[in-house]
Amino acid sequence: MVIVVSGPGGVGKGTIAEYLVKKLDNLWLSKSWTTRKVRSEEDEDSYVFVSRKEFEKAIGDNRFLEWTEFHGNLYGTPLPEAPDGFDVLLEIDVNGALSVVEQSIEALLIFVDAPSVEDQERRLRGRGDPEDEVRRRILEGEKERQIASDLGAIIVINDDLERTIEEISSLINANR
Ligand code: 5GP
Repeated sequence: MVIVVSGPGGVGKGTIAEYLVKKLDNLWLSKSWTTRKVRSEEDEDSYVFVSRKEFEKAIGDNRFLEWTEFHGNLYGTPLPEAPDGFDVLLEIDVNGALSVVEQSIEALLIFVDAPSVEDQERRLRGRGDPEDEVRRRILEGEKERQIASDLGAIIVINDDLERTIEEISSLINANR
């Protein structure tokens, strides 16, 4: 099974995905590629950070399940190489979720949202996003909510990390 966790920037998807693979057995987290620069507070392991040239070569070589351009940077999911018997967890934006659905891949779609826009803003600033980036991500969030709702994704509000992980774990277990 493929599980897609998407949601607007600053909602805590990355942290949620990390906890889910620790908590649940047989869950394999896909590591995306990006041409974005690593953030100062960010783990260098959170993506495969590559140049645009390398990324474009990988597109040409058909190495991605899906890829997208987001705020001038490329992001892509490599074709999954999960061990046998493992479910695949993708932490990608809603356009990636859309692409998965369009490829007729059966997936559990989860859209994690912030309790409020104010909360989302606070989290984006807290991780050091510059002000214009905060504004862009807030605007983007509105469009993302619409796509998620059109896709029929399950909406989970990240009001409390532990509770959210519990809720998503139950959803995954119920669908296994
Ligand atoms: P960030 O720059 O904050 O790490 O990520 C920006 C956006 O790109 C987030 O919404 C994140 O979920 C999304 N993203 C990360 N990796 C991928 C990917 O492989 N494919 C797609 N479609 N989106 C991704």
